[in-house]
Order: sequence, then C-alpha cells, then structure tokens
Amino acid sequence: MPLLDRVIARTLPLVPKSIVRRVANRYIAGETVDEALRLVADLNAKGFRATLDVLGEHIHKLDQAHRAIEEYLHVLEEIARRKADSTISVKLTQLGLKLDADACLEMTRRLVRRAGELNNFVRIDMEDSTCTTDTLRIYRELRRDFSNVGVVVQAYLRRTLADVCALKDLRPNYRLCKGVYVEPLEISYHDMRVINRNYVTLLENLLRSGSYVGIATHDELMVWEAMRIIRELKLPSTAYEFQMLLGVQEQLRDIIHAGGHNVRVYIPFGRDWYAYSVRRLRENPRLAGYVFRAMFK
Ligand SMILES: Cc1cc2nc3c(=O)[nH]c(=O)nc-3n(C[C@H](O)[C@H](O)[C@H](O)COP(=O)(O)OP(=O)(O)OC[C@H]3O[C@@H](n4cnc5c(N)ncnc54)[C@H](O)[C@@H]3O)c2cc1C
Repeated sequence: MPLLDRVIARTLPLVPKSIVRRVANRYIAGETVDEALRLVADLNAKGFRATLDVLGEHIHKLDQAHRAIEEYLHVLEEIARRKADSTISVKLTQLGLKLDADACLEMTRRLVRRAGELNNFVRIDMEDSTCTTDTLRIYRELRRDFSNVGVVVQAYLRRTLADVCALKDLRPNYRLCKGVYVEPLEISYHDMRVINRNYVTLLENLLRSGSYVGIATHDELMVWEAMRIIRELKLPSTAYEFQMLLGVQEQLRDIIHAGGHNVRVYIPFGRDWYAYSVRRLRENPRLAGYVFRAMFK
C-alpha cells in the first residue's frame, strides 16, 4: 500500500468537516431522499439507471435497524411515486445482521416484499468477510419466496468461486466487484493481477451459467475483458449491465453507455455521510489516495 495513501487516510480526521464535505459531495448525493432522487432524475434523463444506498451500516441497537427499514421503505415509495429508474442497495449490518440474524432476515424480507409489490428490486451489498456466510444464507432464504433480490460477490475472496458454484441452482442476479474491505491474505488475494484474473474468470462463469450480472468496476481493463466476453457469448444487453459509483470515472461511464450498454450508477446518500466518508477512507487507504488524486485532477 503506497505510503502516501496511508498518510492521507491517517490524517483524514484532522481535515475540517467542510473540506471532507467538499470532497464527499462528488461521491454522495446529499442528506435527503429528495436530493438523492433529484440526482437520480438527472441521471435517468441522460440514460443511466440508478441504485440508492441509504448510508449508515454500523448500528448498535435493533431500533436503528427498524429506522433504516422505514427509511428504505420511504425511498421505495418515492421511487415509485416519481417513476424513477432506480433500485435500492442495502447492507445487512445496517439491518441488524450482527445483532440478530433472524430479525435481520425478517426485516429484509419485509423490504423485498414491498419492493416486489412496487415492481422494484433489492440488491444486497457484500460487506467484510465476517458477513459473507450469513449474507449468502439470508440471500438463499429470501430466494425461496422472492425473485426481485440480488447479491454481490467479491473477486478478491478466495472462497468466491466455490460460493457461486454453491448458488448455481438459484441462477442469482449478481453484482460482481473486486471487493473494497481490507482482508487477510489467508482468505483473500492481495496481488491485483490475481484479483483481476479471478474477476474475469468469475464474470465468464456467471454469464455462461445464465446469471444476470451487474459488472461493477471502474477498471478499464475489466471493462475491456467484460466487453470481450459479452461479444464472444453474443449476449443481448438485457443479460448484464455495468455499474459504477457516483463520481468515479465518469468519462469511462459515458463511453460504455455510448456503446449501447446499460449502466447503473450507485448513489449513496444520507445523514451519515461524514462518518461514512471517514470510515471508508480509513478502512481502505487506497480509496483515500484515489480521492486525493481526484481532487487535484
Ligand atoms: C456499483 C458498485 C457497487 C459496489 N458494491 C460493493 C460491495 O457490495 N462490496 C464491496 O466490497 N465492494 C463494492 N464495490 C467496490 C469495489 O469492490 C471497489 O470499487 C473496488 O475497490 C475498486 O475496484 P475497481 O474495479 O474499480 O478497480 P480498481 O483497480 O480498484 O480501480 C480502477 C480505477 O478506478 C478508480 N477508482 C476505483 N475506485 C474509486 C473510488 N472509490 N474513488 C475514486 N476513484 C476510484 C481509480 O482511478 C482506479 O485506478 C462496489 C463498486 C461499484 C462500482
């Protein structure tokens, strides 16, 4: 990990909140549902899809999970009312995974049911490796009753190929990403070349087995590999989509879209934006480096 990235990440809490806000503005849609949905409308008008993430994953009481569910239900209602083209993305720890996994399942079930009634879709984000097994178990449980729910897998985890084989019977709707948390070498690949090769292997495997894949990356090489696989398999544009984070590699995003591929933009928003920004940047100094460099571009 380059020294500069580590230094930036460590000194971040000393940076005034107003400056963090200025940087975060590019990556976060604001604090309210209204701000987030105005941004969704802008992106929809340019032909992009969206997925909304209400910030705030680390909770200490189930009450907070109930509040998060209410917020997400409100987001679903507003998406429907405004006829926006947006799904929602949820983190199970925000819905109580670490406090009571059964309660978390029931709350997520409520969300997925309501999303289904509104003709919408819930993507379950993947968090750090302490959550992987429970997240995949809850995903399998939900698929007994619902099809409008998808999950995320991470190419940096050594277990992922086995996980997707185990889920094959469900033909899941996946988001495939490299993975953003810092994980130990025993369970994750650290060499970016290996992560990239595993990403391509997984992508080809998932697309060949008929899964819909949200190809989540800003890496031009991964985009190129994805385009190659899509061409070789002669896939229609309804079989996959590209996904990118708000504010990241927007030029690449436009190029992909102009090539006739669907692109979904992941839009985080909410009152927890400051804690979220600092936590993310401290957790993964590489991100701090990206943001720092982006500031001066
Ligand atoms: C839509 C979406 C959803 C995601 N969901 C999850 C999830 O559920 N779980 C999970 O673990 N990870 C998730 N991720 C994060 C993903 O794992 C990270 O983006 C990963 O660390 C970066 O991978 P990359 O493919 O962009 O390649 P990299 O090689 O890391 O990045 C390629 C280039 O993109 C730029 N870049 C990448 N990330 C950023 C950034 N944050 N800010 C500024 N520039 C950046 C840099 O210029 C970099 O050189 C998601 C990513 C996307 C796009």
